[in-house]
Order: sequence, then C-alpha cells, then structure tokens
Amino acid sequence: MSRLVMKFGGSSVADIERIRNVARHVKREVDAGHEVAVVVSAMSGKTNELVGWCRDAAPLHDAREYDAVVASGEQVTAGLLAITLEGMGVNARSWQGWQLPIYTSNAHASARIEDINGAELIKRFKERKEVAVVTGFQGMHKATGRITTLGRGGSDTSAVAIAAAIKADRCDIYTDVDGVYTTDPRVVPRANRMEKIAFEEMLEMASLGAKVMQVRSIELAMVHNVRVFVRSSFDKPEDIDPHLNQPPGTLICDESEIMEQQVVTGIAFSKDEAQISIRHVPDKPGVAAAIFGPLAENNINVDMIVQNVSADGKTTDLTFTVPAADYVRANDVIVKSKDAIGYDHLDSSTDVAKVSVIGIGMRSHAGVAASAFKALSEKQINIRAITTSEIKFSLLIDAAYTELAVRTLHSLYGLDK
Ligand code: ASP
Ligand code: MG
Repeated sequence: MSRLVMKFGGSSVADIERIRNVARHVKREVDAGHEVAVVVSAMSGKTNELVGWCRDAAPLHDAREYDAVVASGEQVTAGLLAITLEGMGVNARSWQGWQLPIYTSNAHASARIEDINGAELIKRFKERKEVAVVTGFQGMHKATGRITTLGRGGSDTSAVAIAAAIKADRCDIYTDVDGVYTTDPRVVPRANRMEKIAFEEMLEMASLGAKVMQVRSIELAMVHNVRVFVRSSFDKPEDIDPHLNQPPGTLICDESEIMEQQVVTGIAFSKDEAQISIRHVPDKPGVAAAIFGPLAENNINVDMIVQNVSADGKTTDLTFTVPAADYVRANDVIVKSKDAIGYDHLDSSTDVAKVSVIGIGMRSHAGVAASAFKALSEKQINIRAITTSEIKFSLLIDAAYTELAVRTLHSLYGLDK
C-alpha cells in the first residue's frame, strides 16, 4: 500500500464527463489499496474568466477580494469530484484551503505556503478509508483568516506541499501530456519523453520556458524530496495497472535515482524576451547599481546580464534581458535614470528569443557549449548574448531562428528519436 497525491489540472476537470474520468483514475488507485489525496484545479478557462470579471468590476482592485473571487473555481471542482466519487461508491470529502488548513503568507494573489496540517487527512485515511479532495491554488492567511491564492498555476505547488505534509510516496501530476519531453514536441516532432529527470534539471527546464509545471512546485519538491510523476489523465483509467511502479510518464526525482545520466537532458526556449543594450556607460564603480537598482525597485525581473571590460578604461556597453511584458516599463526606467547612469544611447529589441541547453552532465563534461556555437554558426545563426551556470547555458538569438536553433541543438546532443 502506498500513499498518493493525485493532482488534476484544468483540462482534466474541464466538464462533468472529464470529472467522471478523473474519478475513475482515483477509484483505480483506491481499489488497489492506496491512500489518496486528490488536488484539483479549476475547470479549464474558469480562472481566466474569474480574473477577467475582477478586472471588469474595477481595473485596480483589492487583491484580497481578487483572491475571494478566483479561489471559487477550485471550490466547484473539488465539490463536484467528491460528489462523483461518492456516486461510484468511493468515500470522499472535499476540503478547501482554509478548512485543512493550508496556511500561507499574506501576499494576496501570490501567497507562499507556510504550513499545512495533514493530520486530519491521515486520520481519515486510516479510520474511514476516505479520499480527500483538496482545492489547489488556495490557502489562508492565519492572522487575518482570509482566503489567499498562490499565483497562476499554483495548484501544482498545492499538490507538492500536500504530498510533503502527508508524507506521500509520490505526487502524480495528471495533465494533458504524458510527461516531460526533451523539448517542445510541437517544435521538434522527434522530441522524446524522458523516463526520469532530476529536480535541478526540471527546475531549469521550467524556469527557462517549459510550461509543464509551476516553477515553485519544483523548488518545493526538491527541498522536501517529493517524487513527482507527470502523466496524462487522457490515458484510459481502466488500461492502467496501479501496481506497476512506473506507468507511462516522467518521474522527477533526486539525481541519485537516475542511473544513466546523459550530458544534455533537454532544451528549453522562450520567445517572451526583450533585450536592452545601454551604449557607452562609464566604466566605474556604482554604474551597475544605478541601472539595476531602479529596475528592482520597479519589480522588473532582469534575466541575462552581459557587460564587457572597456578597452580604454572609460566606457563600455551593457546588455540585459527582461520579460517582453516588462519591456516598455524597463525602457522607461532606464530613460528616466539616464542622468544618474550617464550613458550615450539605448539599442533595444523585442524580437529576441532565449534558447537554453540543460543537463547535470555538464558539470563533468567540457566543450558542451563550444559544440553548440559551432553547430549554430553552420546554420548562420548569430548569438547576441550568452550566460552559463553549472548545469545549463542560455543563448540569446533573433526570434526568427528559434525553431531552427532548437532543432539543431536537439539533434546535436543526440536527443532525437
Ligand atoms: N486555476 C489556477 C490557474 O488557472 C491554478 C491552477 O490551475 O494551477 O492558474
Ligand atoms: Mg497548470
């Protein structure tokens, strides 16, 4: 017998028929003797609709009331799933964040989980063989008693946090794809589903553009060593043998569980990037602070930063990237700080993309990036900026070449089927 968390995203609970399908997945695991806590998202599209209603009511609104509104999507699906399970003869009870409770910080609309009490759920597993159906995405701030939400995509984080709280053997993330791929299969049809990927690699994949799971959920899984299994809810519930250790899907786990580690595991990319180059900034102490201080104060997340050493000891160029959505604001901030920074002019582009190559094996292999530079040059793809870390490197290129670059690197590192 194991203890499982089963998390179902919006497309898995899109309507009553899909909720019935989810209930059959749950029943299969219960019938196999497992203790199960289910975490659900809102029906697909529901949260967007609720967010839109808040904006229509007032473009600037109190985040506490936003949370009161958007948390309702998950309340509906949790209740419906509990009803459906009961109808199939499975004991089930729904739980909202505040009922468990799931305590969070006070940062409405992007709260962080602080503490979860799993005791009641465990007691009910033992005494009543009862399935817990928990709303994803929401929690409660202890001191004020108000409902909070965890930020978009936050039900992944709810699921991992609950898995840690009840000491689950595994956290299954059911979604509309059957696992994590070496890159986006829509761009590279020869992309492969990975059997396993290490927490650190998955964290990079998710941070750098792969949209499978919320980044914070993977951080949390890594900290608490929660094994996460990404799988499809579209696989027929009846076709799956619950006793198999690993049905189709991708296991996200500690690197020590992965026997045959490849040098490169995956390639991520993001087109939502913008580049700002500041020309002829003085090469002296305090200039970087004058640039990035105001950006930070305006809550603009800077990603790549490239600065060269000046030739004449006087001025140099500095390039950085920001999310495309923040480009106009970032540009504004730099223009307003022109006197404090003391630069000549700005060169900017929003038609850029970031392509990242990820793999723990890079720690012990030299020349991984060098081969990418060669392969891209053979395709006449120019590299605007480069950043590296222990287990990844990222290249900034013209957005028009994104697909070609991803495909080229995917076959270079032997990831094609
Ligand atoms: N329903 C929320 C959203 O759409 C949370 C989630 O699905 O993870 O962002
Ligand atoms: Mg999601």
